[in-house]
Amino acid sequence: MIEGQKEHEAEKKRSAERNTCFGIEPVLVSEVKYNFYVEDESMGIKGIVDAIILLKSGEIIPVEIKYGTRSDRIYPDWKKQLTAYALLLEALLGKTIKEGIIYVMKTAHRIKIDPTMKNDVKNDLKKMKELFLSEKEPKTRFGRQCNYCELRKFCLET
Ligand code: SF4
Repeated sequence: MIEGQKEHEAEKKRSAERNTCFGIEPVLVSEVKYNFYVEDESMGIKGIVDAIILLKSGEIIPVEIKYGTRSDRIYPDWKKQLTAYALLLEALLGKTIKEGIIYVMKTAHRIKIDPTMKNDVKNDLKKMKELFLSEKEPKTRFGRQCNYCELRKFCLET
C-alpha cells in the first residue's frame, strides 16, 4: 500500500515532467483525481480507482496503475477490474464510460470498454453472488489463470 502510494506520487511528478497525463495531452484534461473511492451497494462491489481523468469533453477515463511487473502484458483480469471500475463510476456519476487506461511499465495502454465487457463483468458478479448465497465452497481449477490471480496464495494453502 505504502509502495503504491509512493508510486502514485512518483507518477504525478513524472506526468508533470513529461507534460502528459497518462498519455493524454494535458490541454484536453480538466482534472485528475487520485485514489478515488467508489462503492455500489446494488452491485455489491467497491474499490479505489488509482486515478480518474476528467476530460474537458466531459468524458471520464478510469486509470488502473500496475506495479511490480516486468512485462507490459495486459492481463484479462486487469481489464475486468478496469471494467468494474467503469461500471461503478457510471452508477455514481450517471455517465457512460467507453474507455480506460491501464498504466504499466510507465506506458499508458488505452483500453476500449464496450457493452460486451460490461455484461461479462455483470454476469461474473451475478454468478459470484449466487455462489456466495449458496454457501458452497467453489472448486479450485488450477490453470494458467492462477499465475495472475490475487487469490493464488490462499488457494495453494488449501
Ligand atoms: S488461484 Fe485459485 S481462485 Fe485463482 S484462478 Fe487459480 S484456482 Fe481460481
